Amino acid sequence: LVSDDLIMGIMEERLQEDDCKSGYLLDGFPRTIPQAEALKTLLEKMGEKLDAAVEIDVPKDVILDRLTTRRTCEDCGAIYNVKSNPTKVDGVCDKCGGAAVQREDETEEAISNRLNVYNDQTAPLVGFYKEEGLLLSVDATSSQSVLDAIQARIG
Ligand SMILES: [Zn+2]
Repeated sequence: LVSDDLIMGIMEERLQEDDCKSGYLLDGFPRTIPQAEALKTLLEKMGEKLDAAVEIDVPKDVILDRLTTRRTCEDCGAIYNVKSNPTKVDGVCDKCGGAAVQREDETEEAISNRLNVYNDQTAPLVGFYKEEGLLLSVDATSSQSVLDAIQARIG
């Protein structure tokens, strides 16, 4: 973990690169109210503003089910799911023969801890961006793709 000041310095440099000129998507940032406020200040300084803050809304039981069934190859990083996309041989990566395992941060206990951190630190951003008129909440359990919902809003 790095300080917010360092993160904002990196953000400021990165957002000024050529590939950000026609737009960008920040994934997993901001994670806290202080970061959201710092981002707002930075964008005002750059003469820009956000189009939307996207909340990808998935119930806790669905998150637990999706993550606890995920398996990742220790060697090549390929991702499987024991229910929806299993390896041909249990625990063996189809692509490289490495071990397809459950990551330590994807056990039920670890995910519950991560969700608690989310509820304490990140969930308040929903109210923050709602007040800013920027919140786009997407139901990620429906069959409509998340991308479609975002494009419908932003174009
Ligand atoms: Zn592999």
